[in-house]
Amino acid sequence: MAYEYDSENIFAKILRGEIPNNTVMETEHCLAFHDINPNAPHHILIIPKGPYVNFDHFGAEASDAELADFSRTLAKIAKKLGVDPASGDGYRLVANSGKNAIQDVFHMHVHLLAGRPLGRMLQQA
Ligand code: 5GP
Repeated sequence: MAYEYDSENIFAKILRGEIPNNTVMETEHCLAFHDINPNAPHHILIIPKGPYVNFDHFGAEASDAELADFSRTLAKIAKKLGVDPASGDGYRLVANSGKNAIQDVFHMHVHLLAGRPLGRMLQQA
């Protein structure tokens, strides 16, 4: 099944500048900004600028340049925040994709959470 991207989702509006955001970093292919409802002292959302619904869609159809830029940007943000595992206390990445993960916004995004101990990976739903 092909993914259908809805360009009225909230992150598409952020990318078009219709809704403000608190930007952490911007590159040719992605934008990173603070989550409006943070779950940790650092809670950053990293999104590609391209119209991808979720991580699965992004991994299958994004260009090598987009994929590389996304990973490099993540690492640069961690360094900028001082939470990269090499010199800081580390972070967790979360990419809710689809129904069982309870994805709310259907524009591909990865949550970067850091700044406190984050516990074990999963809680009971
Ligand atoms: P999901 O459940 O889709 O993985 O996460 C969506 C995230 O987007 C949530 O953590 C939510 O707080 C965040 N969010 C929703 N609307 C906005 C918004 O308008 N601005 C920002 N910065 N974050 C938002």
